[in-house]
Amino acid sequence: MEFCCKREIEGKLAHDYLTSSVKNHYGNMTSSPRRVFVSTGPVIVGAGPSGLATAACLKEKGIASVLLERSNCIASLWQLKTYDRLHLHLPKQFCELPIVPFPADFPTYPTKQQFIEYLEDYARRFDIKPEFGQTVESAEFDENLGMWCVTSVGEDGTTTEYVCRWLVAATGENAEPVVPRFEGMEKFMATGEVKHTSHYKTGGDFAGKRVLVVGCGNSGMEVCLDLCNFGAQPSLVVRDAVHVLPREMLGTSTFGLSMLLLKWLPIRLVDRFLLVVSRFILGDTTKLGLNRPRLGPLQLKNLSGKTPVLDVGTLAKIKTGDIKVCSGIRRLKRHEVEFDNGKTERFDAIILATGYKSNVPSWLKENKMFSKKDGFPIQDFPGGWRGECGLYAVGFTKRGIFGASIDAKRIAQDIWEDDQKHRYVINTTLRN
Ligand SMILES: Cc1cc2nc3c(=O)[nH]c(=O)nc-3n(C[C@H](O)[C@H](O)[C@H](O)COP(=O)(O)OP(=O)(O)OC[C@H]3O[C@@H](n4cnc5c(N)ncnc54)[C@H](O)[C@@H]3O)c2cc1C
Repeated sequence: MEFCCKREIEGKLAHDYLTSSVKNHYGNMTSSPRRVFVSTGPVIVGAGPSGLATAACLKEKGIASVLLERSNCIASLWQLKTYDRLHLHLPKQFCELPIVPFPADFPTYPTKQQFIEYLEDYARRFDIKPEFGQTVESAEFDENLGMWCVTSVGEDGTTTEYVCRWLVAATGENAEPVVPRFEGMEKFMATGEVKHTSHYKTGGDFAGKRVLVVGCGNSGMEVCLDLCNFGAQPSLVVRDAVHVLPREMLGTSTFGLSMLLLKWLPIRLVDRFLLVVSRFILGDTTKLGLNRPRLGPLQLKNLSGKTPVLDVGTLAKIKTGDIKVCSGIRRLKRHEVEFDNGKTERFDAIILATGYKSNVPSWLKENKMFSKKDGFPIQDFPGGWRGECGLYAVGFTKRGIFGASIDAKRIAQDIWEDDQKHRYVINTTLRN
């Protein structure tokens, strides 16, 4: 019966904003109003590919959702924080959202612009209209109400509280940039530029400059190549061991081939195969200063989530000496960088290709599903998508858009089943 009342309130208030005044901690009424919105459907936080995929799968099942996005566009990572030359790292068939394949005339590795176009068409097709400029600052399950209370702040400072039965975290693995601190950073910044890759657009901004790129993942490697192509002189800091694989082998994508081989062979053998063919195509990367980890590329990915670098031409530039490989950074000085091996070199700019982190612990007040340490679900793939009390996670599998699509379908099905169960309970209660 208690549930029925809740549902009744829900039904009445769905899509209605209630404006209420709020008392500040001195007990006075504050001037800024607080809006309360009770949603009959789930609230999804984040309108990147994962949030869009979940909203679309729910729509297909007749469930409307509320999609909250802090920026002013969908897929803000792709639209606002990536460099111009970016293409999908993986072939398009592994980066599709559920239900809608990529257009047949798109290339195997669509450009960033084509990917954004695909996502915008996707949102239009399912009539997904996110609430833009809404930064979710907290979400907590109210035991008394049996609902999630999600608080977001709009660009004008207005606070809105969304009350819902289901909450989907879709804020992504790349919500905030990781910016390491180096000794002497301020001294270098007085004479040169330091920027994270989320602010890097094109090598054209660095023509003729000596640029140090920190981090040798896919982004760091590609930024080096971009800098080279625009006449800059890039150096790459390689501190850790890294697996570099050719993007294609034996006439097909390395990723696709790996997936296929994994169906028949144990992961250890597939790794061995990848390393032998890579050695044949790329040569011995150790000689270039790129040591390989002890574990094979797929085993390492499974265990730590560390993605192998798929080479798009950077290695050739390292071989010709157009890109220099450096050891770790000891400290920064005015105009200069001192490396762990004691050498000092002059640079005009530093690009930090040091990755991103999840921001879930900053807004989700919950202790069981997400790790406070790294903001990822504690349970590994494929189990981390569902928590308790109607809490879900999409896009935290370290398996890119492919993993997000699997999550989205599961979440929509689960919410649909839950909704059906509750409708049955309501109908039975009303009949009796
Ligand atoms: C350079 C680069 C290239 C990549 N290439 C590929 C590739 O080729 N293939 C692949 O599968 N994957 C790739 N990835 C991984 C990629 O990040 C994901 O596949 C995809 O963008 C993840 O989508 P998402 O929706 O989970 O996260 P995001 O795209 O990060 O979207 C999350 C959204 O949540 C919003 N948000 C965050 N916090 C809040 C908050 N508190 N309140 C409201 N909104 C919030 C953000 O603004 C953002 O719009 C790449 C990543 C990078 C950085």
